Amino acid sequence: MTTGANIIGFITSKKSESTFQGVTASGTSAGFHPATQSEIDAAMQKASEAFQLYRNFTGEHKAIFLRAIADEIEALGETLIETAMNESGLPEGRIIGERGRTCSQLRLFASYVEEGSWVEAVIDRADPNRQPLPKPDIRKMLVPTGPVVVFTASNFPLAFSTAGGDTAAALAAGCPVVVKSHEAHPATNELVSLAIQKAAKRTVMPDGVFSSLNGDYEVGQALVKHPVTTAVAFTGSFRGGKALFDLANKRPVPIPVFAEMGSVNPIFIMPNSLESKSESIAKQIAASVSLGAGQFCTNPGLVFVPEAGVKDFAKTLAEAMSHVQPQCMLNHRIFESYLRSLHQVKHEHEISIVYEGELQDAPNIRPSVGITDLEAFLKNPHMQEEVFGPFTLLVTYSGTDDLLKVANTLQGQLTATVFSEEHQLPLYRVLLNDLQNIAGRLILNSVPTGVEVCNAMQHGGPFPATTDSRFTSVGTAAIRRFVRPVAFQGFPGELLPEALHDGNPLKIWRLEDGEYRK
Ligand code: NAP
Repeated sequence: MTTGANIIGFITSKKSESTFQGVTASGTSAGFHPATQSEIDAAMQKASEAFQLYRNFTGEHKAIFLRAIADEIEALGETLIETAMNESGLPEGRIIGERGRTCSQLRLFASYVEEGSWVEAVIDRADPNRQPLPKPDIRKMLVPTGPVVVFTASNFPLAFSTAGGDTAAALAAGCPVVVKSHEAHPATNELVSLAIQKAAKRTVMPDGVFSSLNGDYEVGQALVKHPVTTAVAFTGSFRGGKALFDLANKRPVPIPVFAEMGSVNPIFIMPNSLESKSESIAKQIAASVSLGAGQFCTNPGLVFVPEAGVKDFAKTLAEAMSHVQPQCMLNHRIFESYLRSLHQVKHEHEISIVYEGELQDAPNIRPSVGITDLEAFLKNPHMQEEVFGPFTLLVTYSGTDDLLKVANTLQGQLTATVFSEEHQLPLYRVLLNDLQNIAGRLILNSVPTGVEVCNAMQHGGPFPATTDSRFTSVGTAAIRRFVRPVAFQGFPGELLPEALHDGNPLKIWRLEDGEYRK
């Protein structure tokens, strides 16, 4: 049972007399109190005070907190699963899987900070006898930036939301978190926020290490503008991410907004691969496009197919799509936006519809596929725009050299995929090289959906896929968004952080006088 309250550190608060209803798949949800300016200030003030303590907590201590959050989320049991299903319209299996991903993500970050080498300690010892000038003792490591504001994502009510990857990474780094809940799943947010609050109390964290506020754009913008905020993490639309990025840059003290926005995740099918595996590739793509009603940031929205062989490929794809059961979209707003985008696509003169899943009762849908040729695609930049939902556009090409023209005109992407027989890959070296310029993750012979949470993952890409291609929002490297390097020059040992002490008491990997050592 949720109360509609804001969670401000160790208390709950409902100062606003007005309430709003969550936008849910079934259209029903309890009244939620939007945060008032005084509640926003209270959450940020507490976060600032908590930071003074939390920033110096050891990796072991933060790991205990992160694991306790995972335990408390699991202890919510069926209530959490049912609430998230009701608010998102996502099926039970998907929500259970997402809870598993959320908890294992928290535990992965726990182990990561416990091990400790992530601080990238570098030590260059003094050389008083160096000529012509003595060399000073300089030691450097990464430190947390301060309170982080996290915007939760509509399409992942758990794994990219309240206790999702952004929150886990920020807390692991030593940054307090203030969440702006998404209007599409405020009850799920409240349950998870209370679980985090319980974990924080149980593991003796400072009051204010975590808060969560309800509200509309105004609340989100006030959080971005708040002087205490040092960074923002966002997953959602290009419009929303860019608006918050611009706002953060207009602050008297600009701060980074790590926004993960749209991507069409192009797939390039090479002739040799189409000849030998047309059917299996078509089935893989059909499954990937329709997974989660196409509401994934890695949904493949563009497929480049050789002209020779496209007929059979499109037929298999359409046939596979026709077996997909109607799926519920996240909410009516996203459903209507999908229909609008599809309508636009259908009225583009140079796109034909290969398969159109018949319309179901709102907000249920079935997948659709369009087709055009490379010449038309290159002329019309709108064809690169993301249709958020189960739609993909086939683009036919005649020679693989043509693909180089495309690779150099595509916007920044989260992923780019190539299907080719392995022995022929050397022929496409130039294309593979060019794709590195536009995408954060290159995939061979499999589909882009399914983002592994691991140390090597890169979930990010050049603008407009994200606002900063140097970072990832999935995997342990996501911690780097919320830290900055600090160098200590001429410091005596007792005033240095333990990670930089002589004798390496934390036993972490360090670059000492030019050599990596543990
Ligand atoms: P959204 O509209 O970008 O909203 C995401 C969050 O940012 C929400 O909390 C929203 O507030 C807030 N927000 C958006 N614009 C804002 C602004 N100008 N000022 C302050 N706050 C702002 O995304 P969505 O609701 O999740 O989905 C809408 C569309 O986004 C979809 O149709 C799809 O095209 C795209 N999308 C993309 C991805 C992706 O992974 N690339 C994921 C999800 C959605 P409220 O809670 O008040 O709405």
